[in-house]
Formats: sequence, structure tokens, C-alpha cells
Amino acid sequence: CLNRHPCLRRPGYSGLTYDCINELTFLSPPSPPSLSVVNEYLFMVQATGIHIKDNVKNIGAQVLEQVVRGGYNINGTDYAYDFNLSESDVPPTTYLPDSFTYLSSQICPERLPSMKGRLEVNMSEMALEDVERVLLNAEPSMTLGGYWKPRDCVPRWKVAILVPFRNRHEHLPILLRHLIPALQRQRLQFAFYVVEQVGSEPFNRAMLFNVGFREAMRDLDWDCMVFHDVDHMLENDRNYYGCGDMPRHFAVKLNKYSYMLPYNEFFGGVSGLTVEQFTKINGFPNAFWGWGGEDDDLWNRVQYANYTVSRPQGELGRYMSIPHHHRGEVQFLGRYTLLRRSKERQSLDGLNNLQYSPLLSRRPLYTNISVSLSRKLAPIADYN
Ligand code: UDP
Ligand code: MN
Repeated sequence: CLNRHPCLRRPGYSGLTYDCINELTFLSPPSPPSLSVVNEYLFMVQATGIHIKDNVKNIGAQVLEQVVRGGYNINGTDYAYDFNLSESDVPPTTYLPDSFTYLSSQICPERLPSMKGRLEVNMSEMALEDVERVLLNAEPSMTLGGYWKPRDCVPRWKVAILVPFRNRHEHLPILLRHLIPALQRQRLQFAFYVVEQVGSEPFNRAMLFNVGFREAMRDLDWDCMVFHDVDHMLENDRNYYGCGDMPRHFAVKLNKYSYMLPYNEFFGGVSGLTVEQFTKINGFPNAFWGWGGEDDDLWNRVQYANYTVSRPQGELGRYMSIPHHHRGEVQFLGRYTLLRRSKERQSLDGLNNLQYSPLLSRRPLYTNISVSLSRKLAPIADYN
């Protein structure tokens, strides 16, 4: 992310263009949507033939409510409406009916009857041991390290979920409790790798992802990597965590940004790339120490490799993030300077210049990778 404040255009920043959301829209309540916005929304809903479950008479009122709440609902705890909204600008597709049976020899469908849509997000704290007990009871086939794969069909993707981590112990059980059952309903093969930074250097989310990628690939032949903040909870289990032809940005609408994409090039929170895509872009940059900018650099890398980021449509990309403080974490003030040179740095800094010595341990629901990071682990020759 570029800035903790929502006004994201910075003087002197000459990389890809960033839209600036007027700070006023965040400091004061957002203005109600105009009638034309509502009409346009209605038209879009009708034109794409989205099926709305409830009484047809109420469509107008519900759409209005949806739009108005979308604008006003800052804390995002409101689940009163229940649209059966799915991808809004692709041809209408149906989720398989409850009675659908599939063969264990076939690739798992992407739109299973088990994927119900809107989820309850429970952010209350829970001990990791309790989460382990509950999840292992429900799915005893999970093995040490949190490996799981479906048995009633062949998984479409083998997904490694990488979580950058330091001192957020209260967040991790919430994430696992929430995400593991959703991934099981999506019939993906998966495991979690929690990549924990030790030592006294500023936090380096991007370098942790590079470490996680390399270690996960030594562990198993994953084909899809999901880069997942520990404090992001998906609100819809139809937000499918498989990869695709293009890099994917999953966390499109966050409650902390009033469920709006903060700027078009935003690539933070939760993203996913195939192993091939991630290797081609030389992974994340290693040079971003402290908060901010590394996700924007990843966006630039993806563009320079001629990819176009894909995103879930409509309500599917909603997330709630656990409110937290930045306990002494520093902003990375050098990010704008680095972002101006994304292109030249891409081949010099990333997966290819990284050394480290990890310590691995298996827990019931994840593999922990502890790693001490420092600048000398990612040298860049002939560059300053
Ligand atoms: N993170 C962490 N410990 C830290 C800072 C960051 O574990 O001290 C990880 C965690 O997964 C978090 C992600 O990095 O979700 C992004 O950092 P943060 O939540 O501070 O960013 P923000 O929510 O402010 O964008
Ligand atoms: Mn956060």
C-alpha cells in the first residue's frame, strides 16, 4: 500500500499513475449515491441476469439499500441483506445444486454446491489449541503441518497459503478458523506456511513471502501461491482461492476502506500467482523495510511482465480486517524512491538475489518458518 492515509497520490511519485481519493471522502461520511448510480447499478444487475433470491418487488429497494450501505457502512458489520450476487460482469453462471454428485476421478468443479456465499465473520479471539481441536475433529484427514486435499474429486489447484508474521499471535487462530473450512469447501489442496520474522530489523513482508515461496516449493510441488495477510478475513466463500491465467487480487473490497478499492493499482492484503507467474516476475522485491510499497512494486512487476491482474467481481471480493495498531512499526519512507525504479530493480532484486537460513517446525495446522532477515541477505551488485 502506498500510504496509511487514503490520499494516495504523492508529490514526486512518477511511476504508474495512482488515483487519489479525496481525503474528504474519508474524513467526513461519504455522500449518498446519486440516483443515476442506483439506476446504473439496477441496469447492470438486470442486464447481466443476476438472480436475486428475494421477492422481485423488493429488488429496487434492496439495491438502493445495498448501495447506500456500501457508502455508509464503515465498520462493515452489517449482514442484513442477502443478495445472491455473483460475478456481475460475466455471463451468469450457476453454482452446482446441492444434489450434484461428482466423480472422484474428475477435477473438482470451481463452483461447488458447498460454496454458499456470504460468511459470518467471527473476530473473537480464540486459543490456537481450540482451533486445532475443532478443525481436526471436523476434518481428521488433515495431517501435521495442516495439509489437506479433497478425496471426492481431484483438486484443481495445489495452493500454498503464505502468511507473513511477527507478533500477531491473536490474529492467526482467527484466520485459520475462518479460512481452512472455506478452502475445504472450495475443494482445493492446500497447506499454510506462516513465515515469521525474527530479529530486530523492520518488518519486511515482501522478503518473507520470497522465503515462504522458496521453502514451500522445497516442501511440495505447489502450483499456486496465495500471499495472505494474517488479519484479512474473506466474507464470501465463492471468492475462489485457485490461481488463473493472470495474477489475481483477491482482497478487493475491505471494510477499512469502506468496501471500495482504494486505487486501481492496489494489490495488497491477499493476492495469488501461479508458480510460473511468480517465478517470471522474480518474486517480490527484498528492499522494502517497514510498512508500505512492496505490494505496489509487485503490481508494477506484474505489469512489466505483461500480465493483467484479475479480480473477483461484486461482493465476492469483500474482506473484513482485524483492527490493530502498528506497535512501533515504522513506515518505509524510501518506498516512493524505490517505486520509481521498479522496472530496473525487477531483474536485480527478488527471488534471484536472496539468501537466508530458515528454521522450520510443523504445527497441527501450519508449518512455521522462522527467519532472521537483514539487508545483507539480498545484495544487489552494481546498483545503488
Ligand atoms: N505483519 C505482522 N507483524 C507486523 C507487521 C505486519 O505479522 O508487525 C504482517 C501481518 O500478516 C499483516 C501484514 O504483515 O497482516 C500487513 O501488515 P499490517 O497489517 O501492519 O498492514 P496494514 O493493515 O496497516 O496495511
Ligand atoms: Mn493489517
